[in-house]
Amino acid sequence: MLRLQSQGKLYVVGIGPGSKELLTLKAYEALKNADVVIGHRRYIELIKDLVKGEIIESAMRKELDRVKKAIELAKDKKVCLVSGGDPCIYGIASLVEEFIATNSIEIDYEIIPGITALNAANSLLGCAVSGDHAVISLSDQLVDWEKIEHRLRVMLRSDVPIAIYNPSSLKRADNLKKALEIIFSERGNVKVAIIKNAYREGEEVKIKNLSELNAEEVDMSTILIISSSETVATDKRMLTPRGYSMKYEVGAKTKKAIEIAEQSAEILRNFIPGDTLKEEIVRRAVMATGDLSYRDLIVFKGDPVEAVKALREGAKIIVDVEMVKAGLRAEAISAVSFAKGSERTRTAEGILNLAKEIEGAIVGIGNAPSSAMALCEIAEEHKPAFVVATPVGFVGASESKEMIRKLDLPSITTVGTKGGSGVCTAILNCLIEHARSD
Ligand code: SAH
Repeated sequence: MLRLQSQGKLYVVGIGPGSKELLTLKAYEALKNADVVIGHRRYIELIKDLVKGEIIESAMRKELDRVKKAIELAKDKKVCLVSGGDPCIYGIASLVEEFIATNSIEIDYEIIPGITALNAANSLLGCAVSGDHAVISLSDQLVDWEKIEHRLRVMLRSDVPIAIYNPSSLKRADNLKKALEIIFSERGNVKVAIIKNAYREGEEVKIKNLSELNAEEVDMSTILIISSSETVATDKRMLTPRGYSMKYEVGAKTKKAIEIAEQSAEILRNFIPGDTLKEEIVRRAVMATGDLSYRDLIVFKGDPVEAVKALREGAKIIVDVEMVKAGLRAEAISAVSFAKGSERTRTAEGILNLAKEIEGAIVGIGNAPSSAMALCEIAEEHKPAFVVATPVGFVGASESKEMIRKLDLPSITTVGTKGGSGVCTAILNCLIEHARSD
């Protein structure tokens, strides 16, 4: 065993995203008291005016040399080996740990944590990451690209916000383009936060739709955050609520609001009595619109219990527009966000792009006749479990629902021009609640 007669100590120091204010007090003290500070030029630049001791700058790709040098010097000196953000996260600490362990080096050494790029970006955005999330680096220097692609896909399927480190470099410009295509194929045209130089000179925060993101505007000083289905964003802020929204909604309803809803349901029972699922669905549609004519407008093909069964077995819900998705009491995919912009309407293009997902799913069309027609094109090959189609309007709405009724599929539709996102949402919520009850 190699034994270093040490008076010294090695500190592996995370210096945070850039601003000195975001150094920990412990990192600050270590840097001030160090005999030697060693690190890449970019990081040294950020903290050098704190350092009283010697400074050794080293090149980017010379990590192992830097670690060896730091260990050697730490025999009898206080040495800080600095790393941006946190030294463990895509930083140098793992190499130090590995080198010391594999060479059985006895050394007094300590890792000082730092604020990561994700922590920094997250605060600038509002709270894009608030609970479960995933983190990936697109750098294929240490990990094969195939592995990165695979991991990215798995993360995307878990519907959590994803932070992307090392999104681009001159050498690997293509990696980002490939990653953006994968993200689109799994999540659609979602919002992406682009945070450049968080808490240091040149700071920039942008939020865009994925399709508007230009790979050239992303460099190595940038971290990206890909939103999940629960994320909400403006052009400056991004928030993923912690998932209590259902609870809050119920909790926030006043006693008075509950009373009114109960009264309204009771009055409706006089017009539409009965306890079957079909009768309840009609009541919901009337309640959502205030229009008793829905009694005669709703058409059931097959039994809606089929939809309840499919939901219990875990069927996905795919809807045409965000408005329906926003009103649902369950997770859903909105087709409109799977369109890039073609000759067809965005909802129709989205439905066609989601053809495979539609197989076995509950499909809700509340707004666009064109998406109902697109569904008819693919429904034979990719058969949904159940369709709720209530598109509204004077151009094609009536015909599109007629086409849905002709499919060999169980469905709920409205006849004529009436319908809309509200009715579709009300019917789907009724099915969702039934699926959840015993
Ligand atoms: N150890 C660091 C990560 C180093 S990997 C940490 O804990 O944050 C380098 C990558 O981190 C960069 O390519 C970029 O994606 C991200 N990054 C680091 N500092 C950043 C900053 N101030 N603003 C935006 N991204 C940053």
